[in-house]
Amino acid sequence: MTKSYKAEIIAVGTELLLGQIANTNAQWLSEKLALSGINVYQHGVVGDNLHRVKEAFEQAQNRSDIILVTGGLGPTEDDLTREAFQLMSNLELMEHGPSMKKIEAFFQNQNKIMTPNNKKQARVFKGSRVLFNQQGMAPGMILSYESKTWIFLPGVPREMKSLFTNDAMPFLQQLTGNEELIKSLVLKFTGIGESALEHELKSLIQAQQNPTIAPLAQEDGVVIRLTAKEKSEERAEKLLEETKQQILSRVGDYFFGENDETIEQKIISLLNKKKYYIAAAESLTGGMFTDRLISVSGASSVCRGGIICYDTKVKQEILGVSKETIQHKGTVSEECALEMAEQVSSKLHANIGISFTGVAGPEQVEGKDVGTVYIALVSKEGFKQVEKLMSMGDRNTIRKRATIKGLEIIFNFLKS
Ligand code: ATP
Repeated sequence: MTKSYKAEIIAVGTELLLGQIANTNAQWLSEKLALSGINVYQHGVVGDNLHRVKEAFEQAQNRSDIILVTGGLGPTEDDLTREAFQLMSNLELMEHGPSMKKIEAFFQNQNKIMTPNNKKQARVFKGSRVLFNQQGMAPGMILSYESKTWIFLPGVPREMKSLFTNDAMPFLQQLTGNEELIKSLVLKFTGIGESALEHELKSLIQAQQNPTIAPLAQEDGVVIRLTAKEKSEERAEKLLEETKQQILSRVGDYFFGENDETIEQKIISLLNKKKYYIAAAESLTGGMFTDRLISVSGASSVCRGGIICYDTKVKQEILGVSKETIQHKGTVSEECALEMAEQVSSKLHANIGISFTGVAGPEQVEGKDVGTVYIALVSKEGFKQVEKLMSMGDRNTIRKRATIKGLEIIFNFLKS
């Protein structure tokens, strides 16, 4: 039987304790370690204080087999990771030639004088495996101390990720001899809440073993992460596919994509397939919806553009909403939304027009409460739909929700 290793992650940095930055390094590392079958038992954060860092290291040395430390390897006074580990272990530090050369070359190229403290970054523990930092200055290290494995990585996320992926992860796989491979598949849904989705999948979720089924609510909808553990990639993929089909047979109506696929990518691809052009009239969303579509490459062949008609005069004079509608129904109304969608599709020669009008706050408009939004969709074939949305939250949350709802409405129209 293979040994089960206990891993822990220590992030060093006072800015983490002050809440100035979030400990995304630990989150990222934990995810990678879990996917490799290494169990993480503890996350710790410690400020830039020599004795407290040493104390944290001593506790980790006592309870864990693999300790990953991020941060505190830089040149400044408060970068104390090396010093704290030396205080605990009495291991000797030495200069790492290639890293020193890189640091010196950097200062020379920049025409800057190198202060002596910069040399500190190139210091590594004797006997450690040095992880040369392609993206930055301070190298990482892997070393064994009193039968425990210590992995030191820089704090800067980009540097940390590169050293972990290229050096630390292959080392850990060899160390733990973990032959099982983990494969994940993310299924994405729109138009259904997390609890409704869980309800539909209750029996599958209760019986889950391999793959595991984890629903998660996100800003744009709900995702389900399937994670399979198998000896071969083909077997893992087969398991994932079978479970995916079981899930889709229950909630396939709400499914729009997998893994990194976004709803706007899906919409652009459906528009392309149907050879439709789209145009948007945006009042409270102020271009947010069109921006989401245009962020997708290939949008130019289906997206005509939009009119930002925030001001009533623009709705009337540029877009062409009738005076009567504005006077008798108001700008935040079903009728105005419909006219906006009709006008924008006709003015921009699009098959589909969508519009957004509402009250983003902080005050009521035309007696309508903050959070009231109308979204209309019209097509050249005569399709008409208006949805009223009541959103809670601040101004930008209301705007974002309206945009997401608009994407959902278009997707549902196109997929049918
Ligand atoms: P450098 O060699 O660049 O000085 P370092 O190893 O000393 O790096 P820190 O000085 O502790 O690392 O952190 C550098 C920057 O990296 C921080 O200002 C912060 O933006 C980011 N960072 C550090 N730790 C974390 C963390 N745990 N999660 C996310 N970002 C972090």
